[in-house]
Amino acid sequence: MSLIEKTASELLALQAEGKASAVEIADAFLAAYSARESKLQSFMRAPDAVAVRKQAAEIDAKRKRGEKLGKLAGVPVAVKDVLCTKGIRTTCSSKILENFVPPYDAHVVERLKAEDAILFGKTNMDEFAMGSSTENSAYKSSRNPWDTERIPGGSSGGSAAAVAGCQAPVSLGTDTGGSIRQPAALCGIVGMKPTYGRVSRYGLIAFASSLDQIGPFAHDVRDCALMLEVIAGHDKRDSTSVNEPVPAYTRTVNDPVKELKIGVPKEFFGKGLDAEVATAVQQALKEYEKLGATLVPISLPHSPYALAAYYIVAPAEASSNLARFDGMHYGPRTKEKGDLIETYSKSRAEGFGKEVQRRIILGTYVLSSGYKDAYYVKALKVRRLVKKDFDDAFATCDVVMGPTTPSAAFKIGEKSDDPLALYLSDVYTVSCNLAGLPGVSIPCGFTKSGLPIGLQLLGAPFEEEKLLRIARMYESASDWHTKRPKV
Ligand code: GLN
Repeated sequence: MSLIEKTASELLALQAEGKASAVEIADAFLAAYSARESKLQSFMRAPDAVAVRKQAAEIDAKRKRGEKLGKLAGVPVAVKDVLCTKGIRTTCSSKILENFVPPYDAHVVERLKAEDAILFGKTNMDEFAMGSSTENSAYKSSRNPWDTERIPGGSSGGSAAAVAGCQAPVSLGTDTGGSIRQPAALCGIVGMKPTYGRVSRYGLIAFASSLDQIGPFAHDVRDCALMLEVIAGHDKRDSTSVNEPVPAYTRTVNDPVKELKIGVPKEFFGKGLDAEVATAVQQALKEYEKLGATLVPISLPHSPYALAAYYIVAPAEASSNLARFDGMHYGPRTKEKGDLIETYSKSRAEGFGKEVQRRIILGTYVLSSGYKDAYYVKALKVRRLVKKDFDDAFATCDVVMGPTTPSAAFKIGEKSDDPLALYLSDVYTVSCNLAGLPGVSIPCGFTKSGLPIGLQLLGAPFEEEKLLRIARMYESASDWHTKRPKV
């Protein structure tokens, strides 16, 4: 296995044993970035080769001097372009933020730097994280490393493609309705959305504030545990960040959960689920049984309404969050002359892409005085019921499992003219965000044509530690996570 195919934990071990230097690792990934980027289009902004090599050399020097190094010393981390990076352009893959250079780092970026990680470029995404394929990026579509004719998923598709395509060992994404778990599933890697409040959203450019969470992509669950350990924790700059102790996830991740009870919701295996995906997920559940787990058939009776509720709550919050981009407060101003309102609307029409405009219109509508009760308030009630379904499930089960996505990766362009078809690909992922739960997708097989399939695991709030251990149980008994695509 070449350096670029290794996990972050392996790269840390190689450095500790003196078998590879941080500079060698940085050079390997810089070369992989250059060789693969024209095929994968994972990045919005290339890693800064000079800064990367300089930082890697500093880490090597520190190690030589016997100084204490951070938990991610010398590990390149690619970061989704929705997270503010001091002095580095952060666009959300939108024209309206084309020239935005944040004067500060997001909390998670500060945390990465504090642990000696190497910031390794900014990744492509659907504009303002709205989408499931990265085709809504105003700049480019990223490619699935397993088949470059296909989408890598979205909205964090660039972060997923970068890790699956071995341009970076780990990366950060954000998940509002599935944008970490869905691309992780479609690219054959691990992706985790932490409990709402576990990770500070300070410096994350908001899409839907009550649903957004930042989380890691990695080749395996161990690296995912490591990344979460670094980015999680209280931050007073985000009032929804919870002051709960952060367990040392890496210390316990290899401990299997005894007498594991797995809730299998019948609603996740109904119409619309691709047969190959269903088979792979069923096989994975059987594997858990072999490992001593008990499968408990359950029902999440309100989950059929979750998607509709999500596509009201998320656009409502987006319409409010995105009001600041108006050519006055933020974003370039239209060259056309007009009064204040005309200037706002022309600047916004020029700066936002179609999908973002669609969501702003939808969100404004569902919040408008005549329709608020019929749509927004009703959606909030459904959200409460979705959460209650999970509370009931976790009273008897340790974890809820099912497919992450209804099908494997689709072709670029296949759904881009049909927003509803695209929204349907989020059917299994949105409940987790509505209920604020932690969720992880892990690889559980391939279709006959060689496309990855993901198993989704959902846990009770703040039980990431247990969730990671459960995910690792399957991973230790399988080898899907060791496969790398030929790019
Ligand atoms: N695909 C979903 C949407 O378009 C989820 C996006 C996300 O999680 N950021 O809203």
